[in-house]
Amino acid sequence: SFKKSLGQNFLIDSNILNKIVDAADLNEQRGALEIGPGIGALTERLARQAHNVTAVEIDQRLLPILRDSLGAYDNVHVRHGDVLKVDLQELFREDFAEVEKVSVVANLPYYVTTPILMKLLEEKLPLDNIVVMIQKEVAQRMAAAPGGKDYGSLSIAVQYYCIPELVCIVPKTVFIPQPNVESAVIRLKLREEPPVQVQDEQHFFELMQACFVQRRKTIANNLKTRYFSGSDRQQLEQLLAQAGIEPSRRGETLSIEEYGRLSDVFLAAGIR
Ligand code: SAM
Repeated sequence: SFKKSLGQNFLIDSNILNKIVDAADLNEQRGALEIGPGIGALTERLARQAHNVTAVEIDQRLLPILRDSLGAYDNVHVRHGDVLKVDLQELFREDFAEVEKVSVVANLPYYVTTPILMKLLEEKLPLDNIVVMIQKEVAQRMAAAPGGKDYGSLSIAVQYYCIPELVCIVPKTVFIPQPNVESAVIRLKLREEPPVQVQDEQHFFELMQACFVQRRKTIANNLKTRYFSGSDRQQLEQLLAQAGIEPSRRGETLSIEEYGRLSDVFLAAGIR
């Protein structure tokens, strides 16, 4: 029986499976971390191309199936667990000590995909890229440029760490059972350096998120709510001027560099 709550829609189209594995860009010097292997449709393909594969699966019932079908591969390690609770630093030390970089491949229930991605990115693991199947709309938001309705805190958080690239749109018909939404495969290539150097990453992310709390409002209004009591309005305008940003702009029009500048100006004035 499939568990809807675990997002168990299994991929059956070998063309799409191949596209995912190709996008991961593996070789004998690279490791692969697969999250949610299911019945192992991707795992075997990964094992043939990578130095080694670790697959983390939350559903205990699938472990014997996985261990059986992957028994022929001595470079596959199947682990039982919820990837959100796994100590990834330890997992990397144990399983990926022999490789320089790791590609992550995941086809997960959509409601956990964003938290899992953010965990992978924030832990600053030695990743080369992350190839993930997600809801089409979420893929569009991750890859969006400033100015449009898709651009928001998710776009900025992802693009701070990665360069996103749409691999393909995936129709519902290639899954068993069929999901309710259209999917897409997106490749996130990890950046060597962030696109902007900030004093304090946490402050940068908090300030940026504050600017999207009420999307229709100006950044001046959103920032005031988060950082200033009524009387400090003048200081807010001064800081925006110092960063070269018009107070009447909305969060969705600011680039990552502008958020970085603004965060540093706020910090220099002791505003956190
Ligand atoms: N990758 C397989 C495929 O493409 O056919 C299965 C994909 S299925 C959509 C999602 C898989 O992720 C399921 O096997 C599910 O049990 C597993 N899963 C869900 N949440 C998880 C979590 N937090 N940690 C690890 N695995 C998880």
